[in-house]
Order: sequence, then C-alpha cells, then structure tokens
Amino acid sequence: TKILLTGGSGFIAAHILEQLLEAGHQVVTTVRSEEKAQKIRDAHKDLGRDVLDVVIVPDIAREDAFDEVVKTPGLEAVLHTASPFHYKWTDPLTEVVNPAVIGTTGILKALHRSAPSVKRVVITSSFASILDETRLEDPSVVFSERTWNPVTIDDIHRSKPTAYRASKTLAERAAWDFVDSSKPSFDLVTICPPLVLGPVIHHLASLDAINTSNERVVALARGDWKSSVPETGPPFLWIDVRDVALAHLRALERPEAGGGHRLFATAGRFCNAEIAKAARENFPELKDRLPGPEVTGGEYPPADKLFNYDSSETNAILGIDWIPLEKSIVDLIKDIKAFGI
Ligand code: NDP
Repeated sequence: TKILLTGGSGFIAAHILEQLLEAGHQVVTTVRSEEKAQKIRDAHKDLGRDVLDVVIVPDIAREDAFDEVVKTPGLEAVLHTASPFHYKWTDPLTEVVNPAVIGTTGILKALHRSAPSVKRVVITSSFASILDETRLEDPSVVFSERTWNPVTIDDIHRSKPTAYRASKTLAERAAWDFVDSSKPSFDLVTICPPLVLGPVIHHLASLDAINTSNERVVALARGDWKSSVPETGPPFLWIDVRDVALAHLRALERPEAGGGHRLFATAGRFCNAEIAKAARENFPELKDRLPGPEVTGGEYPPADKLFNYDSSETNAILGIDWIPLEKSIVDLIKDIKAFGI
C-alpha cells in the first residue's frame, strides 16, 4: 500500500515510518526542509524512491501546502502527524493554532479534491482534545473517546499548555466537521495519545533538541531531579512511542477502526516518582545524578483529587499489549546515555 506520512522528521513519525517500511508499505513522507529530508534519506540509503520518497512541504499553515503531494499517484492512505508540539513560540495563533488547524483542514480538502484513491486518513490528535483542564482534579469525571475538551480560540492566551491543547482540539474538531459536511471518499480515524515517552530514532542535533514529551526524562538523567522529584502534572497518563506508532498502523489496517472512531490510546497512569524509580533500579552507574529512594516528590495525587478515564473501546479495537513504563524509560535512557548526557 502507498501511504503519505506528514512530518516524517518528528519523534512519533520516525517510529511510524520504521513500522510502515517494516510492514512492506511504500511511503511518501513530508518534512519542512531539504536538510531534514536528507537525514531521512541517509538513514534509509538502501531503499529506492519507489519505496521511500521524501518531499518538502515548508509551511503547513498555508492552505495549499499539501496540494501537490496529495497528487502522488496511487496513494491509498494518509497519516497526518505534523503539528507544533513545543513551547518555543511567542504568538499562539500564528505559531501553534494555525499550523495545527490549517494543516489539518488543508490536507483533508486537498485529498478530497485530488486524491480519490485514498480510503483512510489517520490524524494524530491528542488526549489534549479529550480532557477538560478545569476538571483534572475531579474524580467524578471520566475522560473517554466520547469526551471533548471545551477549550475555545478565546482561551489560547491563558497559558502555553492551554494554547497547545486548543490547537489539537480545534484541529481535530475541524477534521470531523469537514468529514461530516463534505462526505469525502475516505474515512477518518483520530488517535488521541497522552504523554508519549520512549526511544528516540529521529535525527537529533543534540539532546537539547529532544522532543517535548521526553524532556522530563532528559532532565532526570542530567541530574535535575537529584534532590527532589518534580510534581507530575497533567496528563498523568502515558504511552510508549512504539505503541503510538503501532496504533497508527492498526488504525490504518483494521476495518473496525473506521466508522468515525477517536482512539484514546494509553498504557495507563504514570507519575514522576515511578519514572525516577525505573531509572534508579536500572542505571546504577547514574547513581550520582539520580534521586535515591529517600527522595520524595512526584507521587500520584490522592484518588479523590484525580480524574478517571475509560479507554476500553479503543483497547478493544486496537488489541495492543501496552509496553510497560519501566521498559519505555530504560530504552529512552539508553538512547540519552548514547548521546552523552
Ligand atoms: P515532534 O516535535 O517531534 O514532531 C512534530 C512534527 O510536526 C515534526 O515533524 C515537526 O517538523 C512538525 N511540525 C511542527 N510544527 C510545524 C509547522 N509549523 N510546520 C510544519 N511542520 C511542523 O513531536 P511529536 O512527534 O511528539 O508530535 C507528533 C504529533 O503527535 C503532533 O501532532 C503532536 O501534537 C502529537 N502528540 C504528541 C504527544 C507527545 O506526547 N509527544 C501526545 C499527543 C499527541 P520539524 O521536525 O521540522 O520540527
């Protein structure tokens, strides 16, 4: 099958790309610059352009960004992962929300116009579009595939995390609205993972360029948690990056993922204290940097101060045996060590 993968230089997308190639798919992937394209080509020197083609799409916030690449002959499915997930910006509208929303609607419109062979589109949304940040401490709330973040465009100046969550929520809503109103020939699946942790296989210029969701583990490995483990903070739920990638592949391949599903893919709860424990128990050579067992902080909030969640519908569709937290942390810290901390 020939598949278009947007944002191929990203942390999650690099794992998706590996798994797609492994499964024998042909892939066309988009990146922002020639330099990033070359890194991906270099990492897959043995593959011909018919198996892996890397195309430059410089600015996904342009309405016509994807107009040409969607005309690739024979495309059968699309995985749209590209979207800003970092806090290095000043204007939330132009730097976060617009690339997320216009990137999403732009590719859907282009596919609808010019790619009748595409049967399924999978969009990387987020648990950010499921949660309600005013109810994270409310044990009576059950976040699930059916719940939506009530955030609006008017909230984007509240905080950086709120702006990011709004970008994901508005983009996902816009995608479902487009499918409802335009009735394209493809069907849509969205994947809504919480914090994604795990090994890094995309090109990283340095550890300082680590993707946002792995930042806390880099901080731990560098010694920042030595005397106190920071509060965990939302989302309190996590998933390994290899499982996120697998969820995308299954969403693509399984007929039962279609029909309008949002997939809330999560391995379950985590807290920073558990991350610290996994590091301590597996990397005695990092003892001088890691918090000892006597160091407190980063525990779970009490059950009456934490939301509940239900992802059973997704688990039934995906049938993934989730990678445990300890393995994810161990594999990530191995990569961090290989970089030279
Ligand atoms: P990365 O930052 O590694 O990847 C983001 C990708 O989007 C990169 O390919 C990046 O390109 C591209 N991108 C970002 N902004 C733009 C822009 N303005 N124009 C064009 N491309 C852009 O993070 P992740 O791999 O974690 O994120 C991938 C997707 O997963 C995103 O949609 C994110 O919202 C979602 N997600 C991530 C979670 C996590 O915890 N990691 C949790 C839930 C959802 P470049 O490499 O050039 O910067």
